[in-house]
Amino acid sequence: MPPLCAPDENLSCFGCCPPIRPRHYDPLDFVGSLRRELMDNRESFGKAPLQAKPIIGYHCWALGFLDSSNGRAGCLLHPSRHGGKDLRGLVDYGGKCRRESCGAARVFDRLPVEGQAFWLPLVRGLNPFYFSSRRANPLFHILPWGACLLERLRHDAVGRGWSVTELLYWRPFLVHPDWWPKAHRYLFHLALEQPGAFGGTSEAVEGLAREILEGIGRLEAIQDLGSPAPSGKLIWTHQASEPPAFLDFLRLALEIERVDPARLPPARKAMEGLSREIAARRAPGEGRLRPWKVV
Ligand code: SF4
Ligand code: SF4
Repeated sequence: MPPLCAPDENLSCFGCCPPIRPRHYDPLDFVGSLRRELMDNRESFGKAPLQAKPIIGYHCWALGFLDSSNGRAGCLLHPSRHGGKDLRGLVDYGGKCRRESCGAARVFDRLPVEGQAFWLPLVRGLNPFYFSSRRANPLFHILPWGACLLERLRHDAVGRGWSVTELLYWRPFLVHPDWWPKAHRYLFHLALEQPGAFGGTSEAVEGLAREILEGIGRLEAIQDLGSPAPSGKLIWTHQASEPPAFLDFLRLALEIERVDPARLPPARKAMEGLSREIAARRAPGEGRLRPWKVV
Protein backbone atom coordinates (compact mmCIF):
# COMPACT_ATOMS: atom_id res chain seq x y z
CA MET A 1 0.00 0.00 0.00
CA PRO A 2 1.35 3.51 -0.80
CA PRO A 3 2.06 5.90 2.10
CA LEU A 4 -0.54 8.06 3.87
CA CYS A 5 0.82 11.07 1.95
CA ALA A 6 -0.81 9.70 -1.23
CA PRO A 7 -2.69 6.53 -0.28
CA ASP A 8 -4.60 6.21 -3.56
CA GLU A 9 -5.11 7.95 -6.88
CA ASN A 10 -7.62 10.44 -5.44
CA LEU A 11 -6.08 11.46 -2.12
CA SER A 12 -2.97 13.52 -1.49
CA CYS A 13 -1.46 15.36 1.45
CA PHE A 14 0.94 18.26 1.56
CA GLY A 15 0.62 18.82 5.32
CA CYS A 16 4.39 19.02 5.84
CA CYS A 17 5.14 21.51 3.07
CA PRO A 18 7.08 23.61 3.65
CA PRO A 19 9.05 21.73 6.31
CA ILE A 20 9.75 24.88 8.34
CA ARG A 21 6.38 26.23 9.48
CA PRO A 22 4.69 27.28 12.72
CA ARG A 23 3.44 24.45 14.92
CA HIS A 24 -0.22 25.25 14.35
CA TYR A 25 0.00 26.01 10.64
CA ASP A 26 -3.00 24.45 8.88
CA PRO A 27 -3.49 24.75 5.10
CA LEU A 28 -7.25 24.85 5.61
CA ASP A 29 -6.85 28.38 6.98
CA PHE A 30 -5.45 29.59 3.65
CA VAL A 31 -7.44 27.68 1.04
CA GLY A 32 -8.22 30.71 -1.14
CA SER A 33 -4.66 31.96 -1.57
CA LEU A 34 -3.14 28.47 -1.56
CA ARG A 35 -5.41 27.26 -4.37
CA ARG A 36 -4.26 30.14 -6.56
CA GLU A 37 -0.62 29.54 -5.59
CA LEU A 38 -0.79 25.80 -6.35
CA MET A 39 -2.37 26.51 -9.73
CA ASP A 40 0.28 29.11 -10.59
CA ASN A 41 3.12 26.81 -9.50
CA ARG A 42 1.83 23.98 -11.66
CA GLU A 43 1.33 26.34 -14.56
CA SER A 44 4.85 27.74 -14.46
CA PHE A 45 6.63 24.48 -13.52
CA GLY A 46 8.93 23.24 -16.27
CA LYS A 47 8.31 26.23 -18.57
CA ALA A 48 11.86 27.40 -17.92
CA PRO A 49 14.87 25.13 -17.17
CA LEU A 50 14.73 24.01 -13.54
CA GLN A 51 17.17 25.75 -11.25
CA ALA A 52 17.75 26.01 -7.50
CA LYS A 53 15.43 28.51 -5.80
CA PRO A 54 14.76 29.01 -2.11
CA ILE A 55 11.43 28.60 -0.31
CA ILE A 56 10.17 32.05 0.64
CA GLY A 57 8.35 32.25 3.94
CA TYR A 58 5.76 29.49 3.89
CA HIS A 59 5.61 29.40 0.11
CA CYS A 60 7.38 26.70 -1.88
CA TRP A 61 7.53 27.18 -5.63
CA ALA A 62 7.50 23.36 -6.08
CA LEU A 63 4.21 22.77 -4.30
CA GLY A 64 1.49 22.50 -6.91
CA PHE A 65 -1.52 20.66 -8.21
CA LEU A 66 -0.38 17.34 -9.64
CA ASP A 67 -2.93 17.10 -12.45
CA SER A 68 -4.95 19.41 -14.63
CA SER A 69 -8.17 18.70 -12.71
CA ASN A 70 -6.59 20.22 -9.55
CA GLY A 71 -7.79 17.19 -7.62
CA ARG A 72 -4.43 16.27 -6.07
CA ALA A 73 -1.63 18.45 -4.74
CA GLY A 74 1.94 17.73 -3.75
CA CYS A 75 5.60 18.11 -4.57
CA LEU A 76 6.38 18.72 -8.23
CA LEU A 77 10.03 17.74 -7.57
CA HIS A 78 9.20 14.36 -6.01
CA PRO A 79 11.05 11.36 -7.51
CA SER A 80 7.73 9.69 -8.40
CA ARG A 81 7.27 12.45 -11.03
CA HIS A 82 10.77 12.29 -12.47
CA GLY A 83 11.44 8.62 -13.14
CA GLY A 84 12.92 8.08 -9.68
CA LYS A 85 15.18 11.16 -9.77
CA ASP A 86 14.81 13.23 -6.62
CA LEU A 87 14.89 16.95 -7.48
CA ARG A 88 13.95 18.27 -4.04
CA GLY A 89 17.54 19.42 -3.57
CA LEU A 90 16.55 22.38 -5.77
CA VAL A 91 14.94 24.03 -2.76
CA ASP A 92 17.04 25.07 0.20
CA TYR A 93 15.34 22.63 2.61
CA GLY A 94 15.63 19.66 0.24
CA GLY A 95 17.23 17.35 2.82
CA LYS A 96 14.56 18.18 5.36
CA CYS A 97 11.81 17.61 2.75
CA ARG A 98 13.19 14.10 2.17
CA ARG A 99 13.26 13.27 5.88
CA GLU A 100 9.92 14.86 6.81
CA SER A 101 7.31 12.44 8.12
CA CYS A 102 4.45 12.76 10.59
CA GLY A 103 3.40 10.41 13.39
CA ALA A 104 0.17 9.47 11.59
CA ALA A 105 2.07 8.46 8.45
CA ARG A 106 4.46 6.30 10.49
CA VAL A 107 1.57 4.47 12.15
CA PHE A 108 -0.15 4.02 8.77
CA ASP A 109 3.05 2.37 7.47
CA ARG A 110 2.98 -0.09 10.36
CA LEU A 111 -0.62 -1.21 9.68
CA PRO A 112 -1.14 -4.29 7.53
CA VAL A 113 -2.73 -3.65 4.13
CA GLU A 114 -6.13 -4.80 5.47
CA GLY A 115 -5.82 -2.31 8.33
CA GLN A 116 -4.96 0.56 6.00
CA ALA A 117 -7.87 -0.33 3.73
CA PHE A 118 -10.22 -0.46 6.74
CA TRP A 119 -9.52 3.14 7.88
CA LEU A 120 -9.26 4.86 4.50
CA PRO A 121 -13.02 5.09 3.77
CA LEU A 122 -13.18 7.76 6.51
CA VAL A 123 -11.34 10.20 4.25
CA ARG A 124 -12.74 9.32 0.84
CA GLY A 125 -13.79 12.45 -1.00
CA LEU A 126 -11.56 14.88 0.93
CA ASN A 127 -9.86 17.35 -1.34
CA PRO A 128 -6.12 17.96 -0.74
CA PHE A 129 -6.75 20.97 1.54
CA TYR A 130 -9.00 18.96 3.87
CA PHE A 131 -6.87 15.83 3.60
CA SER A 132 -3.75 17.85 4.55
CA SER A 133 -5.45 19.53 7.50
CA ARG A 134 -4.80 18.21 11.00
CA ARG A 135 -8.18 19.59 12.04
CA ALA A 136 -10.24 18.20 9.18
CA ASN A 137 -8.63 14.84 8.40
CA PRO A 138 -9.84 12.39 11.08
CA LEU A 139 -6.91 10.05 10.42
CA PHE A 140 -4.53 12.58 11.97
CA HIS A 141 -6.42 12.09 15.23
CA ILE A 142 -7.11 8.35 14.95
CA LEU A 143 -3.76 6.97 13.75
CA PRO A 144 -1.80 8.25 16.79
CA TRP A 145 -3.71 5.66 18.86
CA GLY A 146 -1.06 3.34 17.44
CA ALA A 147 -1.04 0.31 15.15
CA CYS A 148 -1.45 -2.18 17.99
CA LEU A 149 -4.62 -0.69 19.52
CA LEU A 150 -6.15 0.11 16.13
CA GLU A 151 -5.57 -3.44 14.92
CA ARG A 152 -7.23 -4.90 18.02
CA LEU A 153 -10.25 -2.65 17.49
CA ARG A 154 -10.39 -3.46 13.78
CA HIS A 155 -10.30 -7.22 14.38
CA ASP A 156 -13.10 -6.84 16.92
CA ALA A 157 -15.11 -4.68 14.47
CA VAL A 158 -14.63 -7.10 11.59
CA GLY A 159 -15.76 -9.94 13.85
CA ARG A 160 -18.98 -8.03 14.55
CA GLY A 161 -19.47 -7.09 10.89
CA TRP A 162 -18.95 -3.36 11.48
CA SER A 163 -17.72 -0.86 8.94
CA VAL A 164 -15.23 1.81 10.03
CA THR A 165 -18.04 4.33 10.62
CA GLU A 166 -19.91 1.82 12.77
CA LEU A 167 -16.73 1.23 14.75
CA LEU A 168 -16.46 4.98 15.43
CA TYR A 169 -20.12 5.11 16.43
CA TRP A 170 -19.57 2.39 19.01
CA ARG A 171 -16.09 3.51 20.11
CA PRO A 172 -16.41 7.32 20.08
CA PHE A 173 -13.44 7.70 22.42
CA LEU A 174 -11.28 7.27 19.32
CA VAL A 175 -12.26 10.75 18.13
CA HIS A 176 -13.30 12.40 21.40
CA PRO A 177 -11.27 15.53 22.22
CA ASP A 178 -11.08 14.51 25.91
CA TRP A 179 -8.52 11.88 24.95
CA TRP A 180 -5.06 12.53 23.62
CA PRO A 181 -4.27 9.40 21.59
CA LYS A 182 -0.50 9.52 21.90
CA ALA A 183 -0.68 10.13 25.65
CA HIS A 184 -3.59 7.83 26.49
CA ARG A 185 -3.18 4.80 24.22
CA TYR A 186 -1.42 2.84 26.97
CA LEU A 187 -4.31 3.59 29.32
CA PHE A 188 -6.78 2.14 26.82
CA HIS A 189 -4.55 -0.90 26.35
CA LEU A 190 -4.86 -1.48 30.09
CA ALA A 191 -8.63 -0.98 30.02
CA LEU A 192 -9.28 -3.14 26.97
CA GLU A 193 -7.16 -5.99 28.31
CA GLN A 194 -9.58 -6.55 31.17
CA PRO A 195 -12.09 -9.42 30.90
CA GLY A 196 -15.34 -8.23 29.41
CA ALA A 197 -13.98 -4.84 28.34
CA PHE A 198 -14.12 -5.62 24.64
CA GLY A 199 -17.74 -6.60 25.05
CA GLY A 200 -18.51 -3.41 26.96
CA THR A 201 -19.82 -0.11 25.73
CA SER A 202 -17.49 2.77 24.93
CA GLU A 203 -18.84 4.49 28.05
CA ALA A 204 -17.80 1.43 30.08
CA VAL A 205 -14.31 1.33 28.60
CA GLU A 206 -13.83 5.08 29.09
CA GLY A 207 -15.13 4.85 32.68
CA LEU A 208 -12.63 2.09 33.38
CA ALA A 209 -9.82 4.09 31.76
CA ARG A 210 -10.68 7.16 33.87
CA GLU A 211 -10.75 5.13 37.06
CA ILE A 212 -7.39 3.52 36.24
CA LEU A 213 -5.94 6.98 35.51
CA GLU A 214 -7.11 8.32 38.87
CA GLY A 215 -5.70 5.28 40.68
CA ILE A 216 -2.35 5.42 38.92
CA GLY A 217 -1.62 8.89 40.30
CA ARG A 218 -1.82 7.43 43.82
CA LEU A 219 0.50 4.46 43.19
CA GLU A 220 3.72 4.65 45.16
CA ALA A 221 5.62 2.97 42.31
CA ILE A 222 4.62 5.86 40.04
CA GLN A 223 5.33 8.60 42.57
CA ASP A 224 8.84 7.13 43.07
CA LEU A 225 9.72 7.06 39.38
CA GLY A 226 11.54 10.38 39.49
CA SER A 227 13.63 9.56 42.58
CA PRO A 228 17.24 8.60 41.74
CA ALA A 229 17.40 5.17 43.39
CA PRO A 230 18.15 2.25 43.31
CA SER A 231 20.25 2.66 40.14
CA GLY A 232 21.23 6.15 41.20
CA LYS A 233 20.67 7.83 37.82
CA LEU A 234 17.82 9.59 36.08
CA ILE A 235 17.34 9.58 32.32
CA TRP A 236 14.88 11.32 30.00
CA THR A 237 11.71 9.24 29.99
CA HIS A 238 11.60 8.91 26.20
CA GLN A 239 15.13 7.43 26.22
CA ALA A 240 14.20 4.43 28.39
CA SER A 241 13.86 1.00 26.82
CA GLU A 242 10.27 0.22 27.90
CA PRO A 243 7.44 0.10 25.29
CA PRO A 244 6.92 3.53 23.66
CA ALA A 245 3.19 3.64 24.53
CA PHE A 246 4.02 3.24 28.23
CA LEU A 247 6.76 5.89 28.08
CA ASP A 248 4.49 8.32 26.19
CA PHE A 249 1.86 7.84 28.89
CA LEU A 250 4.35 8.67 31.66
CA ARG A 251 5.77 11.64 29.79
CA LEU A 252 2.64 13.18 28.29
CA ALA A 253 -0.26 12.11 30.51
CA LEU A 254 1.54 12.07 33.87
CA GLU A 255 4.17 14.69 32.93
CA ILE A 256 7.06 12.61 34.30
CA GLU A 257 9.98 13.87 32.26
CA ARG A 258 12.86 12.00 33.90
CA VAL A 259 12.88 8.54 35.45
CA ASP A 260 15.12 6.05 37.16
CA PRO A 261 15.09 3.24 34.54
CA ALA A 262 15.36 0.54 37.22
CA ARG A 263 12.00 1.66 38.62
CA LEU A 264 10.11 1.36 35.33
CA PRO A 265 9.38 -2.42 35.23
CA PRO A 266 7.91 -2.47 38.78
CA ALA A 267 5.88 0.67 37.97
CA ARG A 268 4.44 -1.02 34.88
CA LYS A 269 3.59 -4.13 36.88
CA ALA A 270 1.89 -2.00 39.53
CA MET A 271 -0.23 -0.29 36.89
CA GLU A 272 -1.26 -3.61 35.37
CA GLY A 273 -2.14 -4.97 38.81
CA LEU A 274 -4.17 -1.89 39.66
CA SER A 275 -6.09 -2.14 36.38
CA ARG A 276 -7.02 -5.76 37.13
CA GLU A 277 -8.17 -4.80 40.65
CA ILE A 278 -10.34 -1.94 39.43
CA ALA A 279 -11.89 -4.01 36.64
CA ALA A 280 -12.65 -6.86 39.07
CA ARG A 281 -14.38 -4.44 41.47
CA ARG A 282 -16.71 -3.21 38.74
CA ALA A 283 -19.69 -5.52 38.90
CA PRO A 284 -21.50 -6.15 35.58
CA GLY A 285 -24.70 -5.29 37.49
CA GLU A 286 -23.50 -1.69 37.70
CA GLY A 287 -24.01 -1.53 33.99
CA ARG A 288 -20.45 -0.45 33.43
CA LEU A 289 -19.41 -3.47 31.41
CA ARG A 290 -22.82 -4.29 30.04
CA PRO A 291 -22.92 -5.93 26.62
CA TRP A 292 -23.49 -4.02 23.42
CA LYS A 293 -27.03 -3.07 22.58
CA VAL A 294 -27.34 -4.33 19.04
CA VAL A 295 -29.37 -2.00 16.84
S1 SF4 B 1 1.69 15.53 7.00
FE1 SF4 B 1 2.07 13.29 7.15
S2 SF4 B 1 0.70 12.39 5.63
FE2 SF4 B 1 0.86 14.57 5.15
S3 SF4 B 1 2.52 14.74 3.66
FE3 SF4 B 1 3.43 15.01 5.67
S4 SF4 B 1 4.12 12.95 6.28
FE4 SF4 B 1 2.66 12.71 4.61
S1 SF4 C 1 10.28 20.90 -2.22
FE1 SF4 C 1 8.54 19.58 -2.34
S2 SF4 C 1 8.50 18.53 -0.36
FE2 SF4 C 1 9.79 20.34 -0.11
S3 SF4 C 1 8.42 21.96 0.64
FE3 SF4 C 1 8.52 22.11 -1.60
S4 SF4 C 1 6.77 20.93 -2.29
FE4 SF4 C 1 7.15 20.32 -0.19
